[in-house]
Amino acid sequence: MYKKSAQLFTEAKKYMPGGVNSPVRAFKSVNMEPLFIKRALGSKIYDADGSEYIDYVASWGPLILGHAHPEVVKAVTEAAKNGTSYGASTEIEIELAKLITEIYPSIDKVRMVNSGTEAAMSAVRIARGFTGRDKIIKFDGCYHGHSDSFLIKAGSGALTLGIPGNPGVTKGTASDTLIAGYNTLESVQEIIEANPGQIAAIIVEPVAGNAGVIPPAEDFLEGLRKLAADNGIILIFDEVITGFRVALGGAQELYGVKPDMTCLGKIIGGGLPVGAYGGRADIMDMVAPDGPVYQAGTLAGNPLAMAAGLAAVNILKEENPYPQLDKMASLLADGIRECSVKHGIPIQQNRVGSMMCRFFTDKPVTGLDSAMTSDTELFAEYFKAMLSEGIYMAPSQFEAGFVSTAHTAEDIEKTIEAHDNALKKIG
Ligand SMILES: *Cc1c(COP(=O)(O)O)cnc(C)c1O
Repeated sequence: MYKKSAQLFTEAKKYMPGGVNSPVRAFKSVNMEPLFIKRALGSKIYDADGSEYIDYVASWGPLILGHAHPEVVKAVTEAAKNGTSYGASTEIEIELAKLITEIYPSIDKVRMVNSGTEAAMSAVRIARGFTGRDKIIKFDGCYHGHSDSFLIKAGSGALTLGIPGNPGVTKGTASDTLIAGYNTLESVQEIIEANPGQIAAIIVEPVAGNAGVIPPAEDFLEGLRKLAADNGIILIFDEVITGFRVALGGAQELYGVKPDMTCLGKIIGGGLPVGAYGGRADIMDMVAPDGPVYQAGTLAGNPLAMAAGLAAVNILKEENPYPQLDKMASLLADGIRECSVKHGIPIQQNRVGSMMCRFFTDKPVTGLDSAMTSDTELFAEYFKAMLSEGIYMAPSQFEAGFVSTAHTAEDIEKTIEAHDNALKKIG
């Protein structure tokens, strides 16, 4: 079934570490070899062996409109005809920046970069420059890309592969990152009290999406807002996943909490490599060339990426697919929950809008500790069974699944059926 993929993987391993360009793609934690993908359209993805799958990975979040959306493809191909990069300013950068600032009232000014990693890394640098302080608070299980400061108790692949420490990160850098418990305001308070006047920023995923999906507890985000304001700390929402996903205006719109800075990525690139960070004008005025904090990029604001992002965001703004996305995702979540009860397999189904995760545990998952009670071996069995049923999920217990506007009621029905069969197999 995975013959061609297996051949390609053997070849890939000769030339690339682990045969992949990003660790979780290697399917290690589900004891499998990775699928190689040939093409994708709408809600479907096709591997090198020609098998079709209903896709819930969505390229790890960006593809809220499904694969190869005709308007996005058109925007990219039209743009490419005029050249793929100039390293100079373009009108389309203004359009996307203007749109972002209109949709995110907390963002007065925004800078485009090439990835979510760059967005988070740069936001923290600006916050340090603005406050003149060194330390930052991040939360266990949250992922903000792979820059040094964030690879401490990080989520995503680092969590999946059980890479606990930070080889390659200097002790000095690591000591400036202080770890608080997600959804635990007291731990934040304690850190602030123990480090008076030293915390530049609190960076948080307003819905944790890299340790599975963990919604913010009531008052958690508001509590962070207050603690930050009271202590002269910059509050950074890393909305690389949640931006344009849980609502057009992201988690800050959904929960009504205004951060000082925001990181964006994934969806704003329409499937091309993009990130962005922005925030209050007085903070963003620190960024070079207006201010002294340096941050740059050869391909930043790339015209193809801007065209794809602008097309995607315009569709989201005009069509407001969020109620429909929520309906589809809730259909799926309900079906999965009912099935799990029927088979007597304890599953916690966490969901915020169209981002969701099923944890194989009987404990409600509200933070990293409860997420870690999941039976990852059982998840691996489940993953394998789902794949053979034609469902492509993230190959890790600790990643989110995404419903797109391309998913139909029939896709959802098929997925619930597959889930039923998979539980039969593993139960
Ligand atoms: C994916 C992700 C990043 C990193 O984005 P890349 O484009 O992979 O560098 C940062 N923060 C969050 C919350 C993410 O989910």
